Amino acid sequence: MRRPAVFLDRDGTINEQMGYINHPSRFKILPGVAEAIKRLNENHFLAIVVSNQSGVARGYFPIELVHVIHDMMKDGLKKKSAHIDGIFFCPHYPRGAVKEYTGECECRKPQAGLIDQACRSFDIDMSRSYVVGDRYTDIQLAQRCDLKGVMVKTGYGLGDVTYVLPYQNTVKPAYIAEDLLDAVKWILEREKGDNSL
Ligand SMILES: [Mg+2]
Ligand SMILES: [Zn+2]
Repeated sequence: MRRPAVFLDRDGTINEQMGYINHPSRFKILPGVAEAIKRLNENHFLAIVVSNQSGVARGYFPIELVHVIHDMMKDGLKKKSAHIDGIFFCPHYPRGAVKEYTGECECRKPQAGLIDQACRSFDIDMSRSYVVGDRYTDIQLAQRCDLKGVMVKTGYGLGDVTYVLPYQNTVKPAYIAEDLLDAVKWILEREKGDNSL
């Protein structure tokens, strides 16, 4: 059965913004995130992580570390009864240092590649789906995929909301949330009020 999805940014949205997460010790899940994802699970939304991890191409950490961090994330959330349905990430960067991952790609956000990958793995009702992230690029991603974009003020969010957003006339977030839990509450409330469901 077709399900709507919330595409979640990782760094600054799910976990604390700590520059590059180049060691498991730098990965800390933000308050309210497990509760937010649990609510998505309970309301039949797919919770799908879409993340740029250019540190791989830049040679800051090996790709294996990304998988270690993702296992930590899933386990940490599982302990609080929250389930991540899928994780898609871009390890590339045009001016990287690791040959294998260096170059132009179609998956580095705000390009749509990661969401395209997710759509091949899941039967997603895109008309009821959202992107939530802390960067303006996450909102651009939402726009490119014709999804609603929600910005959180955690991570780089407050900075982007204050200094980037005012200068953008074309693409605006559908909502600016305090954090992921606030974003999810808004999404669920909005969907509840939609008579087309
Ligand atoms: Mg982020
Ligand atoms: Zn890529």
